[in-house]
Amino acid sequence: NLTDKLDKAFHILKGHGKITDVNVADTLKEVRRALLDADVNFKIAKDFTTRVKEKAIGENVLTTLQPGQLMVKIVKDELTELMGGDVAGVNLSGNPSVILMSGLQGSGKTTFSGKLANFLKTKKQKNPLLVACDIYRPAAINQLHVVGDQIGVEVYSEPENKNAVSIAENAIKHAKANGFNVVIIDTAGRLAVDEEMMNEIANVHQAVKPQETLFVVDAMTGQDAVNTAKAFNDRLDFDGVILTKLDGDTRGGAAISIKSVVNKPIKFIGTGEKMDAIDVFYPDRMADRILGMGDVVSLVERAQEQYDEEEARKLQKKIAKNEFGFDDFLTQIQQIKKMGSMKDLVGMIPGAGKALKDVEIQDDAFKHIEAIIQSMTPKERSKPSIIDMKRKTRIAKGAGRKIEEVNQLMKQFDQMSKMMKMMQGGGGKNLMKMMGG
Ligand code: GDP
Ligand code: MG
Repeated sequence: NLTDKLDKAFHILKGHGKITDVNVADTLKEVRRALLDADVNFKIAKDFTTRVKEKAIGENVLTTLQPGQLMVKIVKDELTELMGGDVAGVNLSGNPSVILMSGLQGSGKTTFSGKLANFLKTKKQKNPLLVACDIYRPAAINQLHVVGDQIGVEVYSEPENKNAVSIAENAIKHAKANGFNVVIIDTAGRLAVDEEMMNEIANVHQAVKPQETLFVVDAMTGQDAVNTAKAFNDRLDFDGVILTKLDGDTRGGAAISIKSVVNKPIKFIGTGEKMDAIDVFYPDRMADRILGMGDVVSLVERAQEQYDEEEARKLQKKIAKNEFGFDDFLTQIQQIKKMGSMKDLVGMIPGAGKALKDVEIQDDAFKHIEAIIQSMTPKERSKPSIIDMKRKTRIAKGAGRKIEEVNQLMKQFDQMSKMMKMMQGGGGKNLMKMMGG
Protein backbone atom coordinates (compact mmCIF):
# COMPACT_ATOMS: atom_id res chain seq x y z
CA ASN A 1 0.00 0.00 0.00
CA LEU A 2 0.91 3.65 -0.13
CA THR A 3 2.46 3.69 3.30
CA ASP A 4 4.82 0.86 2.44
CA LYS A 5 5.79 2.53 -0.78
CA LEU A 6 6.61 5.82 0.88
CA ASP A 7 8.43 3.97 3.58
CA LYS A 8 10.60 2.55 0.87
CA ALA A 9 11.20 6.02 -0.46
CA PHE A 10 12.45 7.19 2.89
CA HIS A 11 14.59 4.14 3.22
CA ILE A 12 16.62 5.50 0.36
CA LEU A 13 17.41 8.47 2.53
CA LYS A 14 18.13 6.25 5.46
CA GLY A 15 20.91 4.48 3.67
CA HIS A 16 22.95 7.62 3.36
CA GLY A 17 24.66 9.48 6.14
CA LYS A 18 24.55 12.61 4.09
CA ILE A 19 21.85 13.44 1.60
CA THR A 20 23.00 14.28 -1.87
CA ASP A 21 21.29 15.59 -5.01
CA VAL A 22 21.20 12.04 -6.25
CA ASN A 23 19.29 10.55 -3.37
CA VAL A 24 16.91 13.49 -3.14
CA ALA A 25 16.02 12.78 -6.75
CA ASP A 26 15.72 9.06 -6.03
CA THR A 27 13.52 9.73 -3.07
CA LEU A 28 11.23 12.02 -5.01
CA LYS A 29 10.98 9.42 -7.74
CA GLU A 30 9.90 6.84 -5.19
CA VAL A 31 7.44 9.24 -3.60
CA ARG A 32 5.92 9.88 -7.01
CA ARG A 33 5.72 6.20 -7.80
CA ALA A 34 4.03 5.56 -4.46
CA LEU A 35 1.44 8.22 -5.19
CA LEU A 36 0.79 6.82 -8.65
CA ASP A 37 0.41 3.32 -7.28
CA ALA A 38 -2.16 4.67 -4.88
CA ASP A 39 -4.20 5.94 -7.82
CA VAL A 40 -3.23 9.53 -7.41
CA ASN A 41 -3.62 11.24 -10.76
CA PHE A 42 -0.39 11.46 -12.76
CA LYS A 43 -0.34 15.22 -13.07
CA ILE A 44 -1.14 15.71 -9.40
CA ALA A 45 1.70 13.39 -8.40
CA LYS A 46 4.10 15.12 -10.75
CA ASP A 47 3.17 18.61 -9.57
CA PHE A 48 3.49 17.40 -6.03
CA THR A 49 7.05 16.15 -6.38
CA THR A 50 8.01 19.25 -8.33
CA ARG A 51 6.80 21.43 -5.47
CA VAL A 52 8.63 19.30 -2.92
CA LYS A 53 11.81 19.58 -4.93
CA GLU A 54 11.50 23.35 -5.24
CA LYS A 55 10.95 23.65 -1.54
CA ALA A 56 13.89 21.38 -0.80
CA ILE A 57 16.13 23.57 -2.94
CA GLY A 58 14.64 26.74 -1.47
CA GLU A 59 15.30 25.59 2.05
CA ASN A 60 18.78 24.41 1.19
CA VAL A 61 18.03 20.96 2.45
CA LEU A 62 21.40 19.59 1.51
CA THR A 63 23.31 22.03 3.66
CA THR A 64 21.22 21.61 6.79
CA LEU A 65 22.23 19.52 9.75
CA GLN A 66 19.37 17.09 9.43
CA PRO A 67 18.48 16.91 5.76
CA GLY A 68 16.48 13.69 6.08
CA GLN A 69 14.25 15.14 8.73
CA LEU A 70 13.69 18.29 6.73
CA MET A 71 12.84 16.34 3.61
CA VAL A 72 10.28 14.27 5.46
CA LYS A 73 8.82 17.46 6.88
CA ILE A 74 8.57 19.11 3.47
CA VAL A 75 6.85 16.05 2.01
CA LYS A 76 4.47 15.92 4.93
CA ASP A 77 3.64 19.62 4.77
CA GLU A 78 2.98 19.44 1.04
CA LEU A 79 0.79 16.40 1.49
CA THR A 80 -1.15 18.13 4.26
CA GLU A 81 -1.62 21.16 2.06
CA LEU A 82 -2.73 18.99 -0.82
CA MET A 83 -5.40 17.35 1.30
CA GLY A 84 -6.91 20.57 2.47
CA GLY A 85 -4.75 22.38 4.95
CA ASP A 86 -6.98 23.24 7.89
CA VAL A 87 -9.75 21.18 9.40
CA ALA A 88 -13.17 22.01 7.91
CA GLY A 89 -16.32 21.72 10.01
CA VAL A 90 -19.94 21.31 8.97
CA ASN A 91 -22.20 24.31 8.71
CA LEU A 92 -24.81 24.10 11.47
CA SER A 93 -26.08 27.67 11.22
CA GLY A 94 -29.57 26.88 9.88
CA ASN A 95 -32.65 26.24 11.95
CA PRO A 96 -32.94 23.50 11.23
CA SER A 97 -29.61 22.93 9.50
CA VAL A 98 -30.22 20.70 6.53
CA ILE A 99 -27.50 18.23 5.55
CA LEU A 100 -27.91 16.38 2.27
CA MET A 101 -26.06 13.15 1.55
CA SER A 102 -25.04 12.29 -1.98
CA GLY A 103 -23.02 9.50 -3.52
CA LEU A 104 -23.16 6.16 -5.26
CA GLN A 105 -24.96 3.12 -3.92
CA GLY A 106 -22.82 1.30 -1.40
CA SER A 107 -20.57 4.27 -0.71
CA GLY A 108 -21.82 4.37 2.86
CA LYS A 109 -24.42 7.17 2.83
CA THR A 110 -26.93 5.45 5.09
CA THR A 111 -24.26 4.30 7.52
CA PHE A 112 -22.65 7.72 7.58
CA SER A 113 -26.00 9.48 8.04
CA GLY A 114 -26.38 7.49 11.22
CA LYS A 115 -22.81 8.14 12.34
CA LEU A 116 -23.16 11.88 11.76
CA ALA A 117 -26.50 12.02 13.60
CA ASN A 118 -24.90 10.19 16.50
CA PHE A 119 -21.84 12.46 16.41
CA LEU A 120 -23.94 15.65 16.41
CA LYS A 121 -26.18 14.33 19.14
CA THR A 122 -23.47 13.13 21.51
CA LYS A 123 -20.62 15.55 20.74
CA LYS A 124 -22.45 18.72 19.72
CA GLN A 125 -25.61 18.44 21.79
CA LYS A 126 -27.78 18.68 18.69
CA ASN A 127 -31.19 17.17 18.17
CA PRO A 128 -31.00 15.55 14.73
CA LEU A 129 -33.70 14.02 12.56
CA LEU A 130 -32.82 11.36 9.97
CA VAL A 131 -34.80 11.37 6.73
CA ALA A 132 -35.21 8.35 4.42
CA CYS A 133 -35.28 9.65 0.85
CA ASP A 134 -34.16 6.42 -0.77
CA ILE A 135 -37.53 5.73 -2.33
CA TYR A 136 -36.61 2.81 -4.53
CA ARG A 137 -35.80 0.09 -2.07
CA PRO A 138 -38.02 -0.60 0.94
CA ALA A 139 -35.00 -2.26 2.50
CA ALA A 140 -33.18 1.08 2.42
CA ILE A 141 -35.88 2.77 4.50
CA ASN A 142 -35.73 -0.15 6.88
CA GLN A 143 -31.96 0.10 7.13
CA LEU A 144 -32.18 3.73 8.22
CA HIS A 145 -34.78 2.83 10.85
CA VAL A 146 -32.47 0.17 12.25
CA VAL A 147 -29.64 2.73 12.38
CA GLY A 148 -31.93 5.31 14.04
CA ASP A 149 -32.99 2.80 16.69
CA GLN A 150 -29.38 1.96 17.45
CA ILE A 151 -28.45 5.55 18.23
CA GLY A 152 -31.78 6.73 19.56
CA VAL A 153 -32.47 9.21 16.76
CA GLU A 154 -35.88 9.63 15.14
CA VAL A 155 -36.21 8.61 11.49
CA TYR A 156 -38.70 10.34 9.20
CA SER A 157 -40.01 8.23 6.33
CA GLU A 158 -43.03 8.00 4.02
CA PRO A 159 -42.98 4.47 2.58
CA GLU A 160 -45.91 5.20 0.22
CA ASN A 161 -44.52 8.47 -1.12
CA LYS A 162 -42.48 8.05 -4.31
CA ASN A 163 -41.36 11.65 -4.56
CA ALA A 164 -38.05 12.34 -2.87
CA VAL A 165 -38.51 16.12 -3.04
CA SER A 166 -41.82 16.09 -1.21
CA ILE A 167 -40.52 13.67 1.43
CA ALA A 168 -37.60 16.00 2.09
CA GLU A 169 -39.84 19.07 2.30
CA ASN A 170 -42.30 17.32 4.62
CA ALA A 171 -39.43 16.16 6.81
CA ILE A 172 -38.18 19.73 7.25
CA LYS A 173 -41.67 20.87 8.21
CA HIS A 174 -41.81 18.00 10.68
CA ALA A 175 -38.44 19.05 12.09
CA LYS A 176 -39.52 22.67 12.54
CA ALA A 177 -42.72 21.63 14.26
CA ASN A 178 -40.98 19.23 16.62
CA GLY A 179 -37.82 21.04 17.63
CA PHE A 180 -35.24 19.16 15.58
CA ASN A 181 -32.33 21.50 14.80
CA VAL A 182 -30.50 19.29 12.30
CA VAL A 183 -32.07 17.38 9.40
CA ILE A 184 -29.94 14.71 7.75
CA ILE A 185 -31.32 13.57 4.41
CA ASP A 186 -30.23 10.13 3.23
CA THR A 187 -30.74 9.66 -0.49
CA ALA A 188 -30.75 6.88 -3.07
CA GLY A 189 -27.64 6.12 -5.05
CA ARG A 190 -26.99 4.06 -8.16
CA LEU A 191 -24.06 1.76 -8.82
CA ALA A 192 -22.76 4.22 -11.39
CA VAL A 193 -23.38 7.85 -12.23
CA ASP A 194 -26.58 8.21 -14.29
CA GLU A 195 -28.87 11.04 -15.33
CA GLU A 196 -31.93 9.93 -13.38
CA MET A 197 -30.08 9.80 -10.11
CA MET A 198 -28.39 13.12 -10.76
CA ASN A 199 -31.66 14.78 -11.62
CA GLU A 200 -33.33 13.47 -8.52
CA ILE A 201 -30.64 14.58 -6.11
CA ALA A 202 -30.32 17.91 -7.91
CA ASN A 203 -34.08 18.45 -7.49
CA VAL A 204 -33.93 17.69 -3.78
CA HIS A 205 -30.92 19.96 -3.49
CA GLN A 206 -32.71 22.82 -5.19
CA ALA A 207 -35.90 22.38 -3.17
CA VAL A 208 -34.44 22.18 0.34
CA LYS A 209 -31.35 24.39 -0.17
CA PRO A 210 -29.21 22.47 2.33
CA GLN A 211 -26.65 24.27 4.50
CA GLU A 212 -24.37 21.39 3.80
CA THR A 213 -24.25 19.01 0.86
CA LEU A 214 -21.89 16.13 1.46
CA PHE A 215 -20.48 13.76 -1.09
CA VAL A 216 -19.89 10.29 0.36
CA VAL A 217 -17.25 8.17 -1.29
CA ASP A 218 -15.76 4.78 -0.65
CA ALA A 219 -12.02 5.37 -0.15
CA MET A 220 -11.26 2.02 -1.72
CA THR A 221 -12.52 2.95 -5.16
CA GLY A 222 -9.30 4.71 -6.12
CA GLN A 223 -9.22 6.55 -9.41
CA ASP A 224 -12.95 5.98 -10.00
CA ALA A 225 -13.67 7.99 -6.89
CA VAL A 226 -12.23 11.03 -8.61
CA ASN A 227 -14.50 10.74 -11.64
CA THR A 228 -17.55 10.21 -9.47
CA ALA A 229 -16.64 13.14 -7.26
CA LYS A 230 -16.28 15.34 -10.31
CA ALA A 231 -19.68 14.27 -11.71
CA PHE A 232 -21.47 15.00 -8.43
CA ASN A 233 -19.64 18.26 -7.92
CA ASP A 234 -20.54 19.48 -11.39
CA ARG A 235 -24.23 19.02 -10.55
CA LEU A 236 -24.39 19.84 -6.87
CA ASP A 237 -21.37 22.02 -6.14
CA PHE A 238 -21.17 20.12 -2.86
CA ASP A 239 -19.55 21.50 0.29
CA GLY A 240 -17.47 18.61 1.48
CA VAL A 241 -16.38 15.04 1.05
CA ILE A 242 -16.88 12.06 3.37
CA LEU A 243 -14.28 9.36 2.90
CA THR A 244 -15.63 6.02 4.09
CA LYS A 245 -14.07 2.59 4.62
CA LEU A 246 -10.72 3.95 5.64
CA ASP A 247 -10.44 1.07 8.08
CA GLY A 248 -9.27 -1.66 5.73
CA ASP A 249 -6.12 -1.80 3.68
CA THR A 250 -7.06 1.42 2.00
CA ARG A 251 -5.40 3.57 -0.53
CA GLY A 252 -5.12 7.02 0.95
CA GLY A 253 -4.66 8.20 -2.61
CA ALA A 254 -8.34 8.95 -3.08
CA ALA A 255 -8.16 11.67 -0.46
CA ILE A 256 -5.34 13.39 -2.29
CA SER A 257 -6.86 13.16 -5.75
CA ILE A 258 -10.41 14.18 -4.83
CA LYS A 259 -9.24 17.25 -3.02
CA SER A 260 -7.07 18.27 -5.94
CA VAL A 261 -9.73 17.70 -8.58
CA VAL A 262 -12.84 19.19 -6.96
CA ASN A 263 -11.09 21.46 -4.47
CA LYS A 264 -13.56 20.70 -1.68
CA PRO A 265 -12.49 19.78 1.82
CA ILE A 266 -12.72 16.28 3.18
CA LYS A 267 -14.74 16.71 6.35
CA PHE A 268 -15.13 13.31 7.96
CA ILE A 269 -13.81 9.82 7.54
CA GLY A 270 -15.56 6.53 8.20
CA THR A 271 -13.42 3.88 9.81
CA GLY A 272 -15.77 0.96 10.34
CA GLU A 273 -19.34 -0.27 10.22
CA LYS A 274 -20.25 0.70 13.77
CA MET A 275 -21.98 3.95 14.60
CA ASP A 276 -19.00 5.38 16.48
CA ALA A 277 -16.55 4.67 13.65
CA ILE A 278 -16.43 8.31 12.52
CA ASP A 279 -13.59 10.80 12.73
CA VAL A 280 -13.16 14.41 11.85
CA PHE A 281 -10.73 14.59 8.93
CA TYR A 282 -7.41 16.11 9.93
CA PRO A 283 -5.22 16.66 6.85
CA ASP A 284 -2.01 16.50 8.86
CA ARG A 285 -2.98 13.25 10.53
CA MET A 286 -3.92 11.78 7.19
CA ALA A 287 -0.54 12.86 5.87
CA ASP A 288 1.07 11.14 8.84
CA ARG A 289 -0.95 8.07 8.13
CA ILE A 290 -0.09 8.04 4.46
CA LEU A 291 3.56 8.55 5.21
CA GLY A 292 3.46 6.02 8.00
CA MET A 293 5.23 8.63 10.01
CA GLY A 294 3.75 8.00 13.42
CA ASP A 295 6.57 5.86 14.63
CA VAL A 296 8.34 4.23 11.79
CA VAL A 297 9.54 7.33 10.02
CA SER A 298 10.77 8.96 13.19
CA LEU A 299 12.71 5.82 13.85
CA VAL A 300 14.10 5.96 10.35
CA GLU A 301 15.01 9.60 10.78
CA ARG A 302 16.86 9.04 13.99
CA ALA A 303 18.68 6.05 12.71
CA GLN A 304 19.52 7.91 9.55
CA GLU A 305 20.85 10.93 11.39
CA GLN A 306 23.01 9.11 13.83
CA TYR A 307 24.04 6.00 12.09
CA ASP A 308 26.28 6.28 9.13
CA GLU A 309 26.23 3.20 6.98
CA GLU A 310 29.54 4.19 5.50
CA GLU A 311 31.11 4.10 8.95
CA ALA A 312 29.61 0.72 9.57
CA ARG A 313 31.17 -0.66 6.45
CA LYS A 314 34.55 0.77 7.39
CA LEU A 315 34.19 -0.76 10.79
CA GLN A 316 33.46 -4.15 9.35
CA LYS A 317 36.62 -3.95 7.30
CA LYS A 318 38.66 -3.03 10.36
CA ILE A 319 37.28 -5.91 12.31
CA ALA A 320 38.05 -8.29 9.51
CA LYS A 321 41.61 -6.99 9.39
CA ASN A 322 42.01 -7.16 13.15
CA GLU A 323 42.38 -3.39 13.43
CA PHE A 324 39.46 -2.74 15.71
CA GLY A 325 40.70 -0.56 18.53
CA PHE A 326 39.44 1.47 21.46
CA ASP A 327 38.82 4.51 19.26
CA ASP A 328 36.34 2.52 17.19
CA PHE A 329 34.87 1.20 20.37
CA LEU A 330 34.40 4.75 21.61
CA THR A 331 32.82 5.85 18.32
CA GLN A 332 30.37 3.01 18.60
CA ILE A 333 29.43 3.94 22.12
CA GLN A 334 28.96 7.55 21.16
CA GLN A 335 26.77 6.55 18.27
CA ILE A 336 24.62 4.40 20.48
CA LYS A 337 24.32 7.25 22.94
CA LYS A 338 23.35 9.69 20.22
CA MET A 339 20.51 7.44 19.18
CA GLY A 340 18.89 8.14 22.50
CA SER A 341 18.07 5.75 25.24
CA MET A 342 17.71 2.20 24.02
CA LYS A 343 14.36 1.94 25.66
CA ASP A 344 13.04 4.90 23.67
CA LEU A 345 14.34 3.46 20.50
CA VAL A 346 13.03 0.00 21.07
CA GLY A 347 9.69 1.49 22.06
CA MET A 348 9.32 3.00 18.62
CA ILE A 349 9.36 -0.33 16.89
CA PRO A 350 5.73 -1.40 16.64
CA GLY A 351 5.10 -4.33 18.94
CA ALA A 352 8.62 -4.51 20.26
CA GLY A 353 8.17 -2.04 23.07
CA LYS A 354 6.21 -4.40 25.23
CA ALA A 355 8.29 -7.46 24.56
CA LEU A 356 11.53 -5.70 25.45
CA LYS A 357 10.20 -3.66 28.29
CA ASP A 358 12.71 -5.12 30.71
CA VAL A 359 15.76 -4.35 28.68
CA GLU A 360 17.47 -1.52 30.42
CA ILE A 361 20.68 0.17 29.52
CA GLN A 362 22.50 2.25 32.01
CA ASP A 363 23.85 5.49 30.68
CA ASP A 364 26.27 5.60 33.60
CA ALA A 365 28.02 2.48 32.42
CA PHE A 366 28.73 4.25 29.14
CA LYS A 367 30.07 7.30 30.92
CA HIS A 368 32.63 5.32 32.89
CA ILE A 369 33.77 3.40 29.83
CA GLU A 370 34.17 6.63 27.92
CA ALA A 371 36.21 8.16 30.71
CA ILE A 372 38.57 5.22 30.77
CA ILE A 373 39.08 5.17 27.00
CA GLN A 374 39.63 8.89 26.95
CA SER A 375 42.48 8.47 29.41
CA MET A 376 44.32 6.20 27.00
CA THR A 377 46.93 7.51 24.61
CA PRO A 378 46.23 7.24 20.87
CA LYS A 379 48.75 4.45 20.65
CA GLU A 380 47.10 2.53 23.45
CA ARG A 381 43.75 2.92 21.77
CA SER A 382 44.84 1.58 18.43
CA LYS A 383 47.02 -1.16 19.87
CA PRO A 384 45.43 -2.28 23.15
CA SER A 385 47.88 -5.16 23.54
CA ILE A 386 50.58 -2.73 24.76
CA ILE A 387 48.52 -1.80 27.82
CA ASP A 388 50.45 -3.30 30.70
CA MET A 389 49.95 -2.97 34.46
CA LYS A 390 51.80 0.33 34.64
CA ARG A 391 49.70 1.84 31.87
CA LYS A 392 46.50 0.50 33.44
CA THR A 393 47.31 2.21 36.70
CA ARG A 394 47.90 5.49 34.92
CA ILE A 395 44.68 5.14 32.91
CA ALA A 396 42.63 4.33 35.99
CA LYS A 397 44.00 7.34 37.82
CA GLY A 398 43.38 9.65 34.86
CA ALA A 399 39.80 8.48 34.52
CA GLY A 400 39.08 8.51 38.22
CA ARG A 401 38.01 4.88 38.10
CA LYS A 402 39.26 1.78 39.88
CA ILE A 403 41.89 -0.40 38.24
CA GLU A 404 39.42 -3.31 38.37
CA GLU A 405 37.16 -1.40 36.04
CA VAL A 406 39.97 -0.87 33.58
CA ASN A 407 40.68 -4.58 33.75
CA GLN A 408 37.06 -5.37 33.19
CA LEU A 409 36.87 -3.07 30.20
CA MET A 410 40.00 -4.62 28.73
CA LYS A 411 38.48 -8.05 29.15
CA GLN A 412 35.17 -6.99 27.61
CA PHE A 413 36.96 -5.35 24.74
CA ASP A 414 38.99 -8.47 24.16
CA GLN A 415 35.93 -10.69 24.16
CA MET A 416 34.09 -8.33 21.93
CA SER A 417 36.88 -8.10 19.39
CA LYS A 418 36.99 -11.86 19.22
CA MET A 419 33.26 -12.16 18.89
CA MET A 420 33.01 -9.44 16.30
CA LYS A 421 35.70 -11.07 14.30
CA MET A 422 33.87 -14.33 14.55
CA MET A 423 30.72 -12.73 13.29
CA GLN A 424 32.64 -11.01 10.54
CA GLY A 425 31.64 -7.59 11.77
CA GLY A 426 28.00 -7.21 12.51
CA GLY A 427 28.68 -3.54 13.17
CA GLY A 428 26.98 -1.51 15.81
CA LYS A 429 24.00 -3.74 16.12
CA ASN A 430 25.93 -6.59 17.67
CA LEU A 431 27.86 -4.24 19.84
CA MET A 432 24.64 -2.83 21.15
CA LYS A 433 23.39 -6.27 21.90
CA MET A 434 26.51 -7.08 23.84
CA MET A 435 26.47 -3.87 25.78
CA GLY A 436 22.83 -4.36 26.66
CA GLY A 437 22.99 -8.05 27.39
P1 GDP B 1 -25.24 3.44 0.86
O1 GDP B 1 -25.74 2.53 -0.21
O2 GDP B 1 -24.45 4.57 0.29
O3 GDP B 1 -26.30 3.91 1.76
O4 GDP B 1 -24.19 2.59 1.73
P2 GDP B 1 -24.41 1.88 3.13
O5 GDP B 1 -24.41 2.86 4.23
O6 GDP B 1 -25.59 0.96 3.07
O7 GDP B 1 -23.05 1.06 3.25
C1 GDP B 1 -22.70 0.03 2.35
C2 GDP B 1 -21.86 -1.01 3.07
O8 GDP B 1 -20.65 -0.44 3.49
C3 GDP B 1 -22.53 -1.52 4.33
O9 GDP B 1 -22.30 -2.90 4.45
C4 GDP B 1 -21.85 -0.77 5.45
O10 GDP B 1 -21.84 -1.51 6.65
C5 GDP B 1 -20.46 -0.60 4.88
N1 GDP B 1 -19.77 0.57 5.40
C6 GDP B 1 -20.18 1.86 5.42
N2 GDP B 1 -19.26 2.67 5.95
C7 GDP B 1 -18.20 1.88 6.28
C8 GDP B 1 -16.91 2.12 6.87
O11 GDP B 1 -16.49 3.25 7.19
N3 GDP B 1 -16.10 1.03 7.04
C9 GDP B 1 -16.52 -0.22 6.68
N4 GDP B 1 -15.65 -1.23 6.89
N5 GDP B 1 -17.71 -0.47 6.13
C10 GDP B 1 -18.55 0.55 5.93
MG1 MG C 1 -28.35 3.77 1.59
